[in-house]
Amino acid sequence: KLYNQVQDLKGSIRVYCRVRPFLSTQPIYSSTVDNVEDGSITISIPSKNGKGRRSFNFNKVFGPAASQAEVFSDMQPLIRSVLDGYNVCIFAYGQTGSGKTYTMTGPKEITEKSQGVNYRALSDLFLTADQRRDTFCYDVSVQMIEIYNEQVRDLLVTDGSNKRYPFSCYIKMINNSHRGLSVPDACLVPVSSTRDVIELMNLGQRNRAVGATALNDRSSRSHSCLTVHVQGRDLTSGTILRGCLHLVDLAGSERVDKSEATGDRLKEAQHINKSLSALGDVIASLAQRNQHVPYRNSKLTQLLQDSLGGQAKTLMFVHISPEVDAVGETISTLKFAERVA
Ligand code: ADP
Ligand code: MG
Repeated sequence: KLYNQVQDLKGSIRVYCRVRPFLSTQPIYSSTVDNVEDGSITISIPSKNGKGRRSFNFNKVFGPAASQAEVFSDMQPLIRSVLDGYNVCIFAYGQTGSGKTYTMTGPKEITEKSQGVNYRALSDLFLTADQRRDTFCYDVSVQMIEIYNEQVRDLLVTDGSNKRYPFSCYIKMINNSHRGLSVPDACLVPVSSTRDVIELMNLGQRNRAVGATALNDRSSRSHSCLTVHVQGRDLTSGTILRGCLHLVDLAGSERVDKSEATGDRLKEAQHINKSLSALGDVIASLAQRNQHVPYRNSKLTQLLQDSLGGQAKTLMFVHISPEVDAVGETISTLKFAERVA
């Protein structure tokens, strides 16, 4: 019995990797990615004496040609388990420009084909809920927050005017979850169709963008989290199942040169660094089945405490850029992923 529990815990963490294609606006360079197989990736590392190679193994590796639909279809069973009462966390990790937002949301101009995981996940949840309507009644609602410099901000505020400074909307973090919500003060919006969701995500993007002009591309320096709360009632027994899905677009993982960054930029970098390593520590200690899991070292891990470990399922989805000049960050991203795998 215990053995099974341990197996479950270990089995609940998976690691995926996706390689961004070269962008059409770029000249074609040679790629650092030598080889991609289903579960492994080989990087060639330029060095003084020729080239080194290093391979990494993950649960799944998507090459540059993988489509949004392919990526989603692999994640679909995991996402659907939310309807059975599981808590699921999906993290997009990687340096700025590696494709995190592309995977989670899509490109700037989103078409049906280029929709990211967020849209597809919600559509699929609605579709599946509808297929089960004879046996279950589901309520779905969403929250969208941002963590910047260890402060939490609600991205679904509608002050109408939009005149209020978004920075004044920081929410006081509450550690003990309340009604299953780790941020009970943040707007919780009921949704019943994909269209509702698109509207909300647009609102969230706009609220995020307001900050971005004030603080120069802030989106890559904050974590954003879309949380989908699902409550299902079994129509025959009356049993209630609760599950939630956290879709997290993490801040860029790139190291900032300490000699160059000063003031606010240095402070941001230190916060990002600290929270990403806290996340890595939590997942690694869950993967190693440690007794003590250090949730308290960052806002992000505090916030997601109920959805990391135990019966919850975690997907760490790392992203890498193919350019040769990104190879240092690529290797450190893959090492981060290897540690939590
Ligand atoms: P990040 O969020 O990690 O900073 P983005 O998702 O913004 O990176 O990606 C950087 C650029 O690359 C964007 O223009 C994005 O549309 C493009 N891009 C990323 N991944 C892909 C992909 N798999 N296919 C096509 N374009 C991509
Ligand atoms: Mg991004």
